Amino acid sequence: ISVNQLEEARRALDAPLFADLAGDAEMSFEFFPPKSEKMEETLWESIKTLEPLGPRFVSVTYGAGGSTRERTHATVARIQRETSLGAAAHLTCVEATKDEIDQVARDYWAAGVRHIVALRGDSPTSGQAYAQHPGGYENAAALVAGLSKLHPFEISVAAYPECHPDSRDAQVDLDNLKRKFDNGATRAITQFFFEPETFFRFRDAMAKAGIDAEVVPGIMPVTNFASVLRMAAMCNTAVPAWMGRLFEGLEDHAGARQLIAATLTAELCRKLYAGGVKQFHFYTLNRAELTYAICHLLGVRAAAGAAVNAVAA
Ligand code: FAD
Repeated sequence: ISVNQLEEARRALDAPLFADLAGDAEMSFEFFPPKSEKMEETLWESIKTLEPLGPRFVSVTYGAGGSTRERTHATVARIQRETSLGAAAHLTCVEATKDEIDQVARDYWAAGVRHIVALRGDSPTSGQAYAQHPGGYENAAALVAGLSKLHPFEISVAAYPECHPDSRDAQVDLDNLKRKFDNGATRAITQFFFEPETFFRFRDAMAKAGIDAEVVPGIMPVTNFASVLRMAAMCNTAVPAWMGRLFEGLEDHAGARQLIAATLTAELCRKLYAGGVKQFHFYTLNRAELTYAICHLLGVRAAAGAAVNAVAA
């Protein structure tokens, strides 16, 4: 038995049961901007369902090549206006000059938005490498530096426990992450992953590289295994064989897949919690129920006032 295996066994034994969780975990939720009225309705139902859980913030993604610039802005501004939530806007460097990007950020500041998730983004043509726009930002680290000069934004950035696909090696990736913090980022949110050890190893590597900053695991509740396989291949995320076996034969059983997704994701979060993780960022895919159920299992409850209102309604 190796040291790693012993460490794993110790963590499993130490892990609190769901019933014993203190309810001190803090959540954030990610949404994407809706493309149609129907999708907008679903998004707003989800936001309203998750709002009483009192997340630290919610964020709204930015489509490839800035394709959702207006929709992201409209969604973030509406969250800021109509809810009690702090809204963060994702912003990328793709196919835009520095001036154009800076203007988008200024408009956010004017709308009361104080938190940006600053990203490089990818080429809108699938399979093509990212190319810096002439007059644009080179990468996320440069964007963070640019934003920091504009206004005192809170800035979150992306991190990759299994290495970014463009990265030569883990050290290059960590150096890049460090630059983002040095340039003014406040926290990193990770790409999704499925084994808790993946996150623990990355947290250790960050500490070894002298990066003493908040890193929040990005949690993807999987319900459609085939689409997650496709996404994971693009992102360099390993999909464990056991996960394939758990979803086997469930193509026509959406309900069973939901239950399995909730079980697996809650289990991942419980192990992360046992390893000292108190903050979680959920890729909600604009659906609330699964995320709500997992938060509930982790001991996160609607604020008292919100619960009373729900009962009264
Ligand atoms: P960067 O940190 O700039 O770089 C990515 C990698 O390239 C680095 O890890 C590093 O290995 C390498 N690299 C960069 N600069 C250098 C350098 N100077 N020298 C050597 N190597 C370098 N995409 C969207 O389009 N819209 C979104 O809303 C969105 N939201 C996201 C949210 C999260 C939490 C995450 C994890 C990802 C998100 N993405 C989004 C995806 C992201 O845009 C891609 O992963 C993109 O390929 C990299 O973006 P980045 O900000 O990590 O880039």
